[in-house]
Amino acid sequence: MQGKMMSADTVNGAISRSSLLLGEYPDGSAISSPVLVLKGRRPGRVLWVQACVHGTETVGPLAIHRFLKSVNSEAIEGTVICLMLANPLAYRQQTRLTPQDGANLNRVFPGRSGGSISEQIAYRCFSEALKRADALVDLHSGGDHLWCCFHALFRNDGSSSGEVSERMARNAGTQRLCNLPPDLFSGSALRAFAAAGKPAVLIESGGGARVTESDIDNEVRAIAGACRALGILLDEPTAFASSAVIGSDLKILVASRGGIFCTGVTPGHDASVGEELGYIVDLHGDIVERFVCHSRCWLAAIRRPYMPVFAGDDIAELVVVP
Ligand SMILES: [Zn+2]
Repeated sequence: MQGKMMSADTVNGAISRSSLLLGEYPDGSAISSPVLVLKGRRPGRVLWVQACVHGTETVGPLAIHRFLKSVNSEAIEGTVICLMLANPLAYRQQTRLTPQDGANLNRVFPGRSGGSISEQIAYRCFSEALKRADALVDLHSGGDHLWCCFHALFRNDGSSSGEVSERMARNAGTQRLCNLPPDLFSGSALRAFAAAGKPAVLIESGGGARVTESDIDNEVRAIAGACRALGILLDEPTAFASSAVIGSDLKILVASRGGIFCTGVTPGHDASVGEELGYIVDLHGDIVERFVCHSRCWLAAIRRPYMPVFAGDDIAELVVVP
């Protein structure tokens, strides 16, 4: 059964339930994820939607539930396969990383069949997705530590799958888009899909250790938008974010000092050159590090305000506007 979808009796026009085996616990029981499959009345493209690559990012599964409840299957031409927990180990422990090997699952795709537990999970997840689907939507949030604005990341290298990736992102329902530079986030599911010649988009909304209704609604819009861009959902014309200013690079600010992170800005903020985005105060009350914006950008993610940080922790993700 390894790597196979279990009991996936899909019925046309309905949502079927199954699970995907991703590994084994020491007692031999299955490390598996629930799977929901929406199959339309007519055949068509297949979209793979996955959530909880990082265990604390629960906006993804909630958005999938809401999407599947709201969508009219009569308007579906094709199939939407939803993997609810790409990283069941991190979800159970409520951690971003896999507790057993400390790996970030979104840096080990396409995985290895003989690798660490995270690499094996990535391998099984990716093999199944690649075999079954034409495109990927990867649902994320800032989790417990970071807080993200609603944005979409993709890679358009000029290839046909790159063009479709951009179309999916432009249909996500946000003006905040970034065409990733070639070397960023290698080992992500998005990169692995792109390398295999299939379109992919990564969606972020919310975080900071909570999920809001608007975060869920944002990701519902992004799933529906991807389905429209692929010709899977035929309920209304595609709504391209034609006026979006697409970011061309993504910079990650990292703390070089330890202390408490303080900020007055929120994700989605348009920052100007020289603007201070926050600072670290030590336990004597002295400001020991300031974070300043060096190019025109918008704030994709920022560390939860007043959170203690280690030197080396990510503080913010800035999308550089050309
Ligand atoms: Zn994530």
